[in-house]
Amino acid sequence: MTNSLDRTLRERALRVVPGGMWGHMHAKDLPEGYPQFFARAEGTRLWDVDGNEYLDFMCSWGPIILGHHHREVDAAALAQLQKGDAMNGPAQAMVELAELMVELIPHADWAQFEKNGTDATTTAVTIARAGTGKRKILVAQGAYHGAVPWCSPSLVGVTSEDRAHILTYTYNDVDSLNAAVDAAGGDLAGIIVSAFRHDYGKDQELPTVAFAQAARAAADAADAALIVDDVRAGFRLDLGGSWERVGVRPDLSAWSKSIANGYALSAVTGNDRFRAATQSIFTTGSFWCGAVSMAAAVATLTILRRDNALAHMEAMGTALREGLARLSESHAIPLRQTGPVQMPMVLFEDDADLRKGFAFCTAALKAGVYFHPQHNMFLSAAHTGADIARALEAAELGLRAVRALAPVAA
Ligand code: PMP
Repeated sequence: MTNSLDRTLRERALRVVPGGMWGHMHAKDLPEGYPQFFARAEGTRLWDVDGNEYLDFMCSWGPIILGHHHREVDAAALAQLQKGDAMNGPAQAMVELAELMVELIPHADWAQFEKNGTDATTTAVTIARAGTGKRKILVAQGAYHGAVPWCSPSLVGVTSEDRAHILTYTYNDVDSLNAAVDAAGGDLAGIIVSAFRHDYGKDQELPTVAFAQAARAAADAADAALIVDDVRAGFRLDLGGSWERVGVRPDLSAWSKSIANGYALSAVTGNDRFRAATQSIFTTGSFWCGAVSMAAAVATLTILRRDNALAHMEAMGTALREGLARLSESHAIPLRQTGPVQMPMVLFEDDADLRKGFAFCTAALKAGVYFHPQHNMFLSAAHTGADIARALEAAELGLRAVRALAPVAA
């Protein structure tokens, strides 16, 4: 990467952006050779600022669900842009989008819109407290719900008061959930659950029906809200919400990422029980009425439904998972593939220091395929059988690189 534009931009950024980059998209967390800066993206491909092309399996960490620069979504966004984006209030697209979401999402009697996933989870928690008049929120240990004090994975700059009414439980563990409910006493406002367990660097776990039902029952018994954080998984597993797959409906859901195929938007949906509470809280943002992203969301959700895109993503995800399993077997290098196939998590056995994961991903990157060693990846509806075949060729090189690693000294 010597003398590359990426290197130059990193150096310039270090002077004017603290640390050169914030948060989870800092390339320092990735193996050497991963670019920090990108120039363009199209379909399933993206190009870094030095012109290297990658077959993309991160999809902007989720938002890209129809492929980068989907023509119809961009056309809808552009048509709205030409009319107006930031105006003195919302455009017609807001009502159309809310109507579409109420139609698609069985638990939803209403929707309201924001910008980031953190806005949506935080608003859902505020609505739960407003609607119940209570304070405690149950959060799964290790779950990610955003980057503000009540839920940030880092405690730096966070006070204990910020977390005073947060209690934790273990995902999929009914006993620990019930213990946390007991600990909340009569003060339980809500239980927030991830669509499935997708903690960073860990094996993924789908919710068990027993856990989902226990969460619903506990919320009902305490007159509290059940909140599904569908920010990451939303619209990839089920257009009606990820917990439709376990037959449990939340009171409130938080959405973002893929809702508008990359345009900045998030949403909270809820049932009528929480309509008045939602109306009673004060929540707003300078850009929350932005009409372009709402028009893009109407197009995205319409296309997802029209094209049966979820079935395609599932088929492509299954082909990738099965191909990787075959390669893992033929190279005798055990892989752990967990969670839904549309959101693959690929980890190596005996790899606490990520040496294998990094070697695998570095080799794949050199072969032009962008995998992630620790975070779940994302399929989009644009991925084709040819893309999966190419990804598997790169994965084969990755496994060879793992095999070539020097044995760790005992
Ligand atoms: N919840 C989940 C499950 C997420 O994956 C994320 C983002 N990774 C968030 C909330 C926060 O969303 P945002 O980064 O848009 O604020």
